[in-house]
Amino acid sequence: MLLEPRAMADARPPEEHADIREGVRALCAHYPGEYWRKLDRERAYPTEFVRALTEAGYLGCLIPEAFGGSGLGIGAAAAILEEVHASGGNGAACHAQMYTMGTILRHGSPAQKQRFLPEIAAGRLRLQAFGVTEPTAGTDTTAIRTAAVKKGGAYIVNGQKVWTSRAEHSDLMLLLARTTPREQAKRKTEGLSVFLVDMRAALGKGLTIRPIRTMINHATTEVFFDNLEVPAEHLIGEEGAGFRYILDGMNAERILIAAECIGDARWFIARARDYAKERVVFGRPIGQNQGIQFPIARAYAQSQAAALMVMRAASLYEAGAPCGAEANMAKMLASEASWFAADTCLQTHGGFGFAEDYDIERKFRETRLYQVAPISTNLILAYIAEHVLGLPRSY
Ligand SMILES: Cc1cc2nc3c(=O)[nH]c(=O)nc-3n(C[C@H](O)[C@H](O)[C@H](O)COP(=O)(O)OP(=O)(O)OC[C@H]3O[C@@H](n4cnc5c(N)ncnc54)[C@H](O)[C@@H]3O)c2cc1C
Repeated sequence: MLLEPRAMADARPPEEHADIREGVRALCAHYPGEYWRKLDRERAYPTEFVRALTEAGYLGCLIPEAFGGSGLGIGAAAAILEEVHASGGNGAACHAQMYTMGTILRHGSPAQKQRFLPEIAAGRLRLQAFGVTEPTAGTDTTAIRTAAVKKGGAYIVNGQKVWTSRAEHSDLMLLLARTTPREQAKRKTEGLSVFLVDMRAALGKGLTIRPIRTMINHATTEVFFDNLEVPAEHLIGEEGAGFRYILDGMNAERILIAAECIGDARWFIARARDYAKERVVFGRPIGQNQGIQFPIARAYAQSQAAALMVMRAASLYEAGAPCGAEANMAKMLASEASWFAADTCLQTHGGFGFAEDYDIERKFRETRLYQVAPISTNLILAYIAEHVLGLPRSY
């Protein structure tokens, strides 16, 4: 039996988004371990869960009220995703719907905002797909090759994206493409543009989606563009300024992913603690052995410290203050804390940790992703070294 997370002392203020947390926990109670286990086994998408989260208004929480959302801050969004993960579920199936719309909100034209944001808030349009990563460029985003060439009233797009999550479950894709070749741009960060692609209209007319079989995140795909026509009015903001627009959205993404890691850590720690109390070997609970209880205590301390950094990053973000360092540190510390908690939980369960029915092996696989995506740990360390510590750029 999983004890209520609040039964453990929490370093954060107790009133922090308490109603939202309770609402999300109640919703998640309808989607227990069996639900996620079956999906994982069948490599299927959690359609019912995503629909319930959308209908409850949680996925539109960052959209201003004027556009049909609930106009809450990133702290509330983080609380929602943390609770989804702490309940044993996984927000990766839909979390992008929360933050990719930020690019339209901040840089879209009034007509684009009016047309798309209310539909996204209501869940009638799913903006789940985010096409940045390419096979040859990797983390070096400015080296992407997907090109959009203006021809009359449209851009003709050719190229390929990889690891595009949820492409088969989205109506729209936020796409980053080169509108000026890297060699011709004044700086390599210039000449990149962001488009909103209507995937429903594009499928079979220049857009092809191919699923990739992955360890987790089963809705992962690669996407091909072959002379795809994107109407010029689907360009977001200024042509050539897209790299900055994408960077603007990254802090929100990092804070929200970090919150998911905190949720995972809470789930693993609660599971490990409960099992360590119950499981009797050599005539006593295994949790009486320091070799078992110390790693659980360490995982708890690490996750609490990371949770404070997530909260700090979120409050700076909400205040409109620079938060690149905090968002990056939050994501790194939280992903490492959740991974340590996952490993500890598995070890505490001995052989049973490997049994599907316990959900631990599934969550273990799921939480490992966050040290690689959406940004890998090395790149965060490089950011801190260069931008916080003033060390020479290493790449
Ligand atoms: C399941 C899944 C879902 C994803 N969903 C999306 C999505 O929806 N949209 C999207 O655009 N992308 C998505 N991604 C891509 C993800 O953001 C990238 O995988 C991630 O940013 C790492 O890039 P890469 O895989 O190209 O690694 P690479 O850039 O090839 O790097 C490989 C390794 O080398 C290290 N490395 C590279 N350069 C340096 C350096 N200079 N110094 C030190 N170390 C370095 C990296 O840290 C990494 O460990 C997803 C990935 C996965 C696995």
